Amino acid sequence: MLTLFDTHAHFPNDFGAPSDDFPAFELKFMAVGGSPELNESAVAAPTPYKALGYDRDQVDAPRAPIDYAGIDAVGEIGLDYHYSPGTRTRQIALFEEQLQLASDLDKPVVIHTREADEDTLGCLKNIRARGIIHSFTGGPAFCRALLDLGFMISYSGIVTFRAADNVRETARFVPDDRILVETDSPYLAPVPLRGRPNRPEYVYHVAKFLAGLRGTNLDDFAALTVRNALSTLCSSPS
Ligand SMILES: [Zn+2]
Repeated sequence: MLTLFDTHAHFPNDFGAPSDDFPAFELKFMAVGGSPELNESAVAAPTPYKALGYDRDQVDAPRAPIDYAGIDAVGEIGLDYHYSPGTRTRQIALFEEQLQLASDLDKPVVIHTREADEDTLGCLKNIRARGIIHSFTGGPAFCRALLDLGFMISYSGIVTFRAADNVRETARFVPDDRILVETDSPYLAPVPLRGRPNRPEYVYHVAKFLAGLRGTNLDDFAALTVRNALSTLCSSPS
């Protein structure tokens, strides 16, 4: 049976009504935190794969230390100048603090980056880390720079959106051993389900679309993305 790994889902999630327009498959997924609430629901989520951290919206919030025992990754963390350009300096400080933590713990990171290409690369050059660039929405030059730094590139439903030509361009050249798929549910439902609440199962549509874009078949593409997800997460000591 086909297996797919959604590397990025948030909880709690009411998931809406399930769509039945894809065949049955085995689903693995990573529950991702980013705030006290999201971290708590990620811990409770029905999956062994979890990431906990403080995202760009937590710069002014109280941040309790996180117990990383048995947790696979630090995330999501990162920079967003689309929604929060005013907190740039504090976002960078928080991002670098958690990159350092991940490096000290020898765990992978899950990185959000939006309209912050230059500062993201600056932070990643200051503090070496490994892991995932989640829901990649940048262009070819940014993608190549992140690949050069050793990161995995994860695509969400955005790659299926009509206006995302630059994202599709990158998805054609990311090497087979560096690509991942995700939903970012409950957000970003892929075409043909765009506009509905997203569910981890809908990673099927993201993977099918990318397999077509890369000129491969779904079985082979699914197998390599599962292998990539497991090797990214399971190389960390727990
Ligand atoms: Zn997210």
